[in-house]
Amino acid sequence: MIKIEHLCKKYGKLTVLKDVNADIKKGEIISIIGPSGTGKSTFLRCLNLLDNPSGGNIYFDNVNLLDKTTNITKIRQKMGMVFQSFNLYAHLSVLDNLTIGPIKLLGKSKDAANKKALELLKLVSLADKANNLPDELSGGQKQRIAIARCLAMEPDVLLFDEPTSALDPTMVSEVLGVIRRLAKEGMTMVIVTHEMEFARNISSRVFYMDEGIIYEEGTPQQIFENPQKENTKAFINRIRSLHYPITSKHYDLYAMNAKVEAFCEKHLLSRKVCSNVLLLIEEILLLQTDFSDIDICLSYSEKSGHLEFVLEAAGSPVNLLEENGQDDDLGLMLIKNLCETIQYRYENGKNILSCQLKDKQ
Ligand code: ADP
Ligand code: MG
Repeated sequence: MIKIEHLCKKYGKLTVLKDVNADIKKGEIISIIGPSGTGKSTFLRCLNLLDNPSGGNIYFDNVNLLDKTTNITKIRQKMGMVFQSFNLYAHLSVLDNLTIGPIKLLGKSKDAANKKALELLKLVSLADKANNLPDELSGGQKQRIAIARCLAMEPDVLLFDEPTSALDPTMVSEVLGVIRRLAKEGMTMVIVTHEMEFARNISSRVFYMDEGIIYEEGTPQQIFENPQKENTKAFINRIRSLHYPITSKHYDLYAMNAKVEAFCEKHLLSRKVCSNVLLLIEEILLLQTDFSDIDICLSYSEKSGHLEFVLEAAGSPVNLLEENGQDDDLGLMLIKNLCETIQYRYENGKNILSCQLKDKQ
């Protein structure tokens, strides 16, 4: 139904979408997730040309939207868009909000438009609000009206841009309920959302957007349970990281420790865990000989509660985990004692040591 090829969007010097490619079939429900600022809204706006793409092609039922001869207005009517902020006409009654488009743009008679509008109001359980003004409704009700208004235009696909993020938590589920119902009825939908459980349950496919592209896509199971790429894993597992570079043997130990402590505090890790991390870092650094190019990274997964410490040291291969029968062995025992698992590998000229700290100490 929709084919997107090499879509690119720049705002001045800022490249938001680099190269987006996707194929959306009739009846599919696509959820788009990803960190904020990665172009999810921009992508939706480009899809129905609320924003002009800087390059690429978008085909809707094999018609190229970016072809100058294409009748954009007609095609845009086939794609309804639901915004975070509802965008209802404040001075019109709920019923008029639903009928104005069909009468003016689809050329429907007032009677036919009213009849359809009342049906749709029943679908979203708001038939008794037909004569109210939007401001007399709650946020959740306004958003359900906005969805009904889109449906009144008889679109082939609905685009949702974070439809629940402006709502009080208590109203989120009434809106998600309506979207679920449309899904059951086979509506094609593209939904940008932060509601992970919802995305997981409702979608046929999930797009994870990052770095200006669809960074990873797959079934909800693939993306939520077994993401393959680094950024997707970090996003799904809500991993927060602290990086600290070291470039000399005389690195600032106190500054580094202060950063680690602040990181632990920010993520509500206990004093005990924090002192274990500090001890682990100190012991591992004591085993180093080449300090010219070291990067240390502490990562905490808010989802699993796991804490991981990774040290990358440039230089020739030395596996610090191999006991050498010298004084260092005591330090090594201490390190092994603090960790659930420790792995060593050599990659691109770097010795990489990954330690997963024990959860409960
Ligand atoms: P998301 O929806 O994923 O949070 P957006 O698509 O809203 O991201 O924005 C992506 C980037 O594009 C952001 O850095 C944002 O500041 C920028 N951006 C969005 N719209 C405009 C605009 N009209 N003019 C300039 N920059 C914009
Ligand atoms: Mg957005």
